[in-house]
Amino acid sequence: MKFFNKIYILFFIVILSSLGYLYFTMSSTQEKLQTNLEKLFIIQAKNFSENIEDTVKQNILDNLYKNLKENESLRDNLQNSISMLITPSFKYIYVLYRDKNGKYRYLLDGSKEDRGEFGQKLNVDKENWDKIYNTKADDAILQKDIENLWGTYLKPIIYNNEVSAVIGIDFSAKLPHSISSVMRPMQNTFIYIFIAIASLLIVLLYQTIINIKTKKNAFTDELTQTFNRTYLKEFLRNLDSTKYQILMFDIDFFKKVNDTYGHKAGDFILIEVAKIIKQVLRKQDVTIRFGGEEFLIFVHKSVNYKQDKLMVAEEIRKSIEQAVFNFEGTIINITTSIGITLYPENYNNISDAMNKADEMLYIAKKSGRNRVISDS
Ligand code: GH3
Ligand code: MG
Ligand code: MG
Repeated sequence: MKFFNKIYILFFIVILSSLGYLYFTMSSTQEKLQTNLEKLFIIQAKNFSENIEDTVKQNILDNLYKNLKENESLRDNLQNSISMLITPSFKYIYVLYRDKNGKYRYLLDGSKEDRGEFGQKLNVDKENWDKIYNTKADDAILQKDIENLWGTYLKPIIYNNEVSAVIGIDFSAKLPHSISSVMRPMQNTFIYIFIAIASLLIVLLYQTIINIKTKKNAFTDELTQTFNRTYLKEFLRNLDSTKYQILMFDIDFFKKVNDTYGHKAGDFILIEVAKIIKQVLRKQDVTIRFGGEEFLIFVHKSVNYKQDKLMVAEEIRKSIEQAVFNFEGTIINITTSIGITLYPENYNNISDAMNKADEMLYIAKKSGRNRVISDS
């Protein structure tokens, strides 16, 4: 992959991750704002309920229900003082008691309009209200949706360690809605940019893959799937000659194979031979189809290279000698000769080093074929 392609991809990845980060930061900011708002409303409702409890207890020393039932003006006074607390955010403030049948009924209602009558039944979330009777402690019931925050703050009024009534304060906030109405277009913009960049990245990636494939095809020998001579030029350009030994490999009497079994059989042998070579070699080694049945092999010098310098070449030779090539039912045996340049760096240039390997191959052929001969 070209350097600038890598840079582009890196650049896109950085932008994409920044956008992703921003998007999630915004979401979490929205959540935080909402949580803080909740806290604020709960604190406010708690203060209100404490005020109401104080006022009620200042006016009524015991038996809340009886006193309120019998004293209408006291009821009106208390309701009027509760009314003072009503705002658009705290719309409903009321005091309910639980009757013998477990139904909730009004003791006091702070509403300015449609005020609930004393003893009038009100349908409430019974489970939560009953909980206040049991725990004798405050609770806030929150109803969360993205558009709106609303909830009910519940506080028991306790006489003689018994819950006599429960103060309910309904609050609602449109603010979260305005937060999300500001945030949402921004988040959407982020998503669009994100999608646009991601698609661009996909196109670039696709093109890069096509480039790599085209390049790979240009460098591959169609028959044997080894590298071709075009790749050799590329490979030699940045070759560290001290790292490799050079093998010139040639099939013995290959012309005979063609003549005896046909060109197709020859092709088959070439394909199979290339496979065997690949099996013997490792990833760092490079095989190039140099001519018809001639392969140039760059064997990377590994740790065990020092012990047996001809090991790889010998293994290739032996593997092919021992292989049974079955072409459409006909068994064909072949041998190969290999010439090696062990230290390419000892020559003036890589071309000379390659010629030396060829020279060694010639000697191997001359001295009877099916053998490996090196330059030292
Ligand atoms: P030596 O032992 O000296 O190497 O003899 P040889 O017959 O192997 O060598 P020579 O160079 O005389 O013959 C190589 C033959 O390889 C000649 C050519 O027709 C054949 N050849 C070259 N390319 C291909 C190919 O792609 N497919 C097939 N089937 N044969 C090929
Ligand atoms: Mg040959
Ligand atoms: Mg040849």
